Amino acid sequence: MSKIAIIGGGIAGLATANLLQQQGHEVTISEREHGLPTKGNAFLMHPAGLEVLHKLTQDTQADFLPGEYVGHFNLYSQTKVQLEDKSLNPWKCIKRKDLIQFLYSLVTAKNIYNGRLFSHFEFENGNAKKAVFTNGEIEEADFFIGADGSNSIVRKEVFGLTEYTDTEVKEIVCVTHFPEFAKKYKGVFTKFQDVTQGRAVGFIPSTDNEVVWFFQYDVSLADLEDEKPETMRKFCETNLADFPEEVQRLISENDFNTSYLWRTRDFDPLPKFHKRNIILIGDAAHLALPFTSAGTTNALVDAKVLTDCLAETTDFQTAFDRFYELRHKEVTAQIYLGRKLKLQFLTPLNFQKLDVPLI
Ligand SMILES: Cc1cc2nc3c(=O)[nH]c(=O)nc-3n(C[C@H](O)[C@H](O)[C@H](O)COP(=O)(O)OP(=O)(O)OC[C@H]3O[C@@H](n4cnc5c(N)ncnc54)[C@H](O)[C@@H]3O)c2cc1C
Repeated sequence: MSKIAIIGGGIAGLATANLLQQQGHEVTISEREHGLPTKGNAFLMHPAGLEVLHKLTQDTQADFLPGEYVGHFNLYSQTKVQLEDKSLNPWKCIKRKDLIQFLYSLVTAKNIYNGRLFSHFEFENGNAKKAVFTNGEIEEADFFIGADGSNSIVRKEVFGLTEYTDTEVKEIVCVTHFPEFAKKYKGVFTKFQDVTQGRAVGFIPSTDNEVVWFFQYDVSLADLEDEKPETMRKFCETNLADFPEEVQRLISENDFNTSYLWRTRDFDPLPKFHKRNIILIGDAAHLALPFTSAGTTNALVDAKVLTDCLAETTDFQTAFDRFYELRHKEVTAQIYLGRKLKLQFLTPLNFQKLDVPLI
């Protein structure tokens, strides 16, 4: 069995650690945050991601997992003309904090080292031998998994500087204590899409008392001057004044101290996900724009596919090649789909029929 060091204890890192432990490997996770990395709000999980979560728990009881099922999607224009009304597969809306806590609870050997910010590798005969952290600690392993998210430093170490695309769309993401809406819209994802320019608001109940919602906007129309809660509130009030009453209610009920500004961007597909004995997974390996709402599902699917590949062979180079072969087409397609959907979002009048993305 191999000694494996995972850098980044987010969704991909924790899920991979769990599956590797099930296979009997010796695994450590090094995470920069000092406690649970629970920043962020919530996301939609596709059935493929839910399947991996069930596999992690070895449990077929869906209710064991955190989150609320989302079985229906209602799309309206900004003037509340219904554009779409369809069933989903179903998906689940899960708060990031709940999912991280859930994954932490499954790591049996407590080999999670917090407060470790990855700095660089030390190499021997071309292979990484040690991961070095800024606090001076080091981790030796047979191979290393970079699961350190969209701004991955492991990626920089392996492939050099990443050229990210410019941020053309931002998202204000909020979780609002709003039992009335949580009850009324249970199981339903409601979205209001401006059909003339780049603005959209979507909301979904994430618990019995809370609703997750986002305001997605074209930064060339207007942008926030700063990220102070009051600035965000005024920005939403001003730029969504012509949106339906539901949106006005969400703004007035929300505590903007807890809101999060997401600057969306991506990068071109990588030619490989590994170099020698270092492999990237999750957002570190491939980043699609949020329009595909696939980031978390991809992180979980990567964990499952990589660990399946490692179970099939004792040669991890073969496993890494196989992992790339199995995953790169799908994640590359999502990167380009994300870009196409962004273009439609920014210039809806140039399209006869909009493929309106869910998120
Ligand atoms: C507000 C918001 C809303 C989102 N909504 C959706 C959605 O609706 N649907 C969806 O599918 N996805 C969504 N996402 C994206 C989703 O959260 C990520 O795509 C997904 O979590 C990827 O998992 P990951 O493990 O690769 O990265 P992350 O979950 O970001 O984990 C990376 C981890 O690495 C740690 N780390 C970073 N750098 C270092 C370092 N140098 N050393 C050590 N540790 C490090 C971080 O602290 C973090 O814990 C959203 C993201 C945000 C922020």
